[in-house]
Amino acid sequence: MSGRYLYRGFTRCINRLLAPGICLACGCALNDAGSLCASCSTQLQTVPNPCHHCAEPNPLESLVCPACLLNPPRWQKMIAPLQYRGLARDYLIQLKFAEATYLAKTLGLNRIDRYRQSLPRPEVLLPVPLHRSRLFERGYNQAYEIASVWSQALQIPIDRRALSRSRVTASQSGLSARQRAQNIHQAFTYTPQRSYRHVALIDDIVTTGSTVTEISKLLHRAGVEYVEVWAIARVYRR
Ligand SMILES: [Zn+2]
Ligand SMILES: [Zn+2]
Repeated sequence: MSGRYLYRGFTRCINRLLAPGICLACGCALNDAGSLCASCSTQLQTVPNPCHHCAEPNPLESLVCPACLLNPPRWQKMIAPLQYRGLARDYLIQLKFAEATYLAKTLGLNRIDRYRQSLPRPEVLLPVPLHRSRLFERGYNQAYEIASVWSQALQIPIDRRALSRSRVTASQSGLSARQRAQNIHQAFTYTPQRSYRHVALIDDIVTTGSTVTEISKLLHRAGVEYVEVWAIARVYRR
């Protein structure tokens, strides 16, 4: 066993030991392991009046914002309640790059009612996949960690191998919206356990939406009628 794997196991154990019984941010006593107290939860800022379609702030009182009316996204609904800033950003970075997989539960359950109240429920959760080589490198897929939390809380199955990355893509960070779309073009394959009509694609953060656009096109071509995108946080494009 390599030192790297031992180190990874060790940091996971430490993370689990540190998680129970206290607020992760301020350390006050709590009943729930790995969560935030009411006061620290307010540091996770929600998107004000989110558009039903793109999850960005909607200047109107309508369900769908003017930008989505003009140019509808390829998916049908998006729930990504938190703004990608402050504590939410710190935690999402730790979840993605620092083995802090327990944060999937902290963040996933923090606004669980937003997903719970979205009816009708999707038949299945489909985590946005990493390429096998990146999964091997990181040891886990943060989108799958989040999907597991929602699957358990909402009793919706996960089809973890339905989506896969057929080629290695460069990291999306630092690329423009157009470069992101090119980078991700035809990067995925879809081989579900059975045919689905209503799915929720699961990711940690939605930035330009190029990844979920590409996957939504693929899903629609395969006969999926209704694609929801569920993420923890939304980066504003406007
Ligand atoms: Zn606290
Ligand atoms: Zn919109």
